[in-house]
Amino acid sequence: MSIAYKTAVAHGAKGALFADGINRRYVSGFPSTEGVALCHEEGVALFLDMRYAVSAENAGLAEDVRVIRCTGGIMEAVKAFTAEKGIDKLIIESTAVTIAELERLKAALADMELVPVKNICGTARQIKTAGEIACIRKAQSITDKCFSHILGFIKKGVTEKEVAAEMEYFMKKNGAEGLAFETIAVSGAKSALPHGVPGEDVLTENAFFTMDFGASYGGYCSDMTRTVVLGKANEEMRRIYNTVLEAQKAAIAAIRDGVYCKDVDAAARDIIAAAGYGEYFTHSTGHSLGLEIHESPACTPKSADTLRSGMFMTVEPGIYIENLGGVRIEDMVLVTDGGCEDFTASPKELIEI
Ligand code: ZN
Ligand code: ZN
Repeated sequence: MSIAYKTAVAHGAKGALFADGINRRYVSGFPSTEGVALCHEEGVALFLDMRYAVSAENAGLAEDVRVIRCTGGIMEAVKAFTAEKGIDKLIIESTAVTIAELERLKAALADMELVPVKNICGTARQIKTAGEIACIRKAQSITDKCFSHILGFIKKGVTEKEVAAEMEYFMKKNGAEGLAFETIAVSGAKSALPHGVPGEDVLTENAFFTMDFGASYGGYCSDMTRTVVLGKANEEMRRIYNTVLEAQKAAIAAIRDGVYCKDVDAAARDIIAAAGYGEYFTHSTGHSLGLEIHESPACTPKSADTLRSGMFMTVEPGIYIENLGGVRIEDMVLVTDGGCEDFTASPKELIEI
């Protein structure tokens, strides 16, 4: 019995309806821009129009997933199906349905009781299965390969955009289904912007250059950041870099099943504060990821969450000094009983190019 159906039963409903792309893919295993997945007593009914239905039928989906061809409209098919099965009450994912969609669902399923529930697949999505772990491993291996490739591409005179474009092309050419998110490639003073956008600027010499990038594979995201120097780092830059590196290693060492997220955050934050850069670490230490690039839990100072075996977390402390630049180092780890497995294989000592 699926988590979604169990949750439905707990709410006195006869199924869970997902109209959003992420949860629809999660419960059915099939990506589409439109459609409905309905988790009910007998399995998952996946309602798709003819742009997707044939592909889904041939996609080798799990045995309990039944593809329903919607030739006369998706909601019409859902209505007929639920009437036939005697389903009169459904839960829907409150965090993924807009007010407009809710109105549309209510109008299309007039006699249906719809109960919004938050994070229907929440815990299940946090703990990754072997199949999900394999996808993330592949996504990260493409990302690591991309980093070693780009080190040979970075030279005087190239622009941030050229580097970002080369990375994106390389990842797709090497098996990525797509990008996990828009590539960040920011140089010099711009590297002080944690989510800066690559521009036409040529890379600044003897300054930090931060690249934050990831691939998606089988729908699952990787996420990695490396900061390098084009030219030579001065004393202060080295001190900043090594502080971030030490903080990142300390946070990774703190990760294991049962640890509080806030303690992982503190492991990194305390080192940065002790080095005198506390005010320049302006975001959380890490976040979970999977089908989405940012999932819960996150390692923040105020988090009440606990890490569990099977969760994926990024570990990405940083120091950002306005007008000077910034450093972030980000790996992705799988939480295990006694520690964690670091899926990021790229070196993280300071690289000067
Ligand atoms: Zn990142
Ligand atoms: Zn991240």
